[in-house]
Amino acid sequence: MLSLQNQRQPKTTPLVDDYEISDTVLGLGINGKVVQCTHRRTKQNYALKVLLDNEKARREVDLHWRVSGCRHIVNIIDVYENTYSGRKCLLVVMECMEGGELFQRIQDKADGAFTEREAAQIMHEICAAIDYLHSRDIAHRDLKPENLLYTTSQPNAILKLTDFGFAKETFSNDTLQTPCYTPYYVAPEVLGPEKYDKSCDIWSLGVVMYIIMCGFPPFYSNNGMAISPGMKKRIRTGQYDFPDPEWTNVSPAAKDLIKGMLNVDPSKRLRIQDVIRNKWIAQFNAVPQTPLCTGRMLKEGEETWPEVQEEMTRSLATMRVDYDQMQIKALDKSNNPLLTKRRKKIEEIFNATRN
Ligand code: ADP
Repeated sequence: MLSLQNQRQPKTTPLVDDYEISDTVLGLGINGKVVQCTHRRTKQNYALKVLLDNEKARREVDLHWRVSGCRHIVNIIDVYENTYSGRKCLLVVMECMEGGELFQRIQDKADGAFTEREAAQIMHEICAAIDYLHSRDIAHRDLKPENLLYTTSQPNAILKLTDFGFAKETFSNDTLQTPCYTPYYVAPEVLGPEKYDKSCDIWSLGVVMYIIMCGFPPFYSNNGMAISPGMKKRIRTGQYDFPDPEWTNVSPAAKDLIKGMLNVDPSKRLRIQDVIRNKWIAQFNAVPQTPLCTGRMLKEGEETWPEVQEEMTRSLATMRVDYDQMQIKALDKSNNPLLTKRRKKIEEIFNATRN
């Protein structure tokens, strides 16, 4: 639980007093544009995301702000609460990620220049962000290629995760441990429900790692439909493979890790702790420097990349809905005393209002 003292408040002064907004569009998202802005005094460039002020936007900003100290999460510099043409907006000033998207950078590499060791290093960076979030009981739930950006175009650039539009505070066990109920032993099914949201991020990690290793996604829809019933079934039943020749030289350790992350059963899927302790991630510097075909395959598939992105977006949307429902069911079935008490209370109120 975060104390009120730690909670940061948006500034209410006009953003334009401190920053000059430019016409340069850095990216388009579902919620509008991300544009460049410049700090008037320091002349430093930043990225500005404008959100209509509502409960969802507040949650996005609050969760992103809380974790923006992580080396592998895009840093929030300032947040303003300003009114534009009568509409309240939240203006988020972030560090400007000048290095662009992860897969563009891999695609731009010379053929054969991208190796399994570099792939492991990239995964190590992404896992650091997810570990930071999960250890603070936050699930990102929208981990996909376009949300992984590089600070600069230099070789030493840092890869960072952004866009907390679907982030969620996971059902924390602490909330059940009120002073009057601190159990010595808590059954696994009671600790259960929160794991679904986090397992969504691990599935994404598996898909992203698969694409990093070969340049195409593990699941394809056959007929160009964004998410066909066939594809949904393939995801649900875990029907994917490691085809030759692209996967021939890839180490079995890398394939095993992907299998663990793409396990169809969210409760059996690896947790972030398992992933970061995995030798291929933890000792990425010892991973073989086998050349991968990722750059070439990304180039060949350049035209279909928007479809790959759309498919992942839709798969994640489906998964969030499915897991939310599973979570409600799991909660419903759990026999946690405090929840039972709460449920009884709700029933009582319900019955009282009916009579
Ligand atoms: P949405 O939540 O609307 O999808 P995002 O936060 O994902 O918005 O931003 C949309 C796009 O804007 C990103 O895919 C990226 O290309 C660009 N972008 C976002 N944040 C930054 C940043 N800090 N620096 C540079 N470009 C950014």
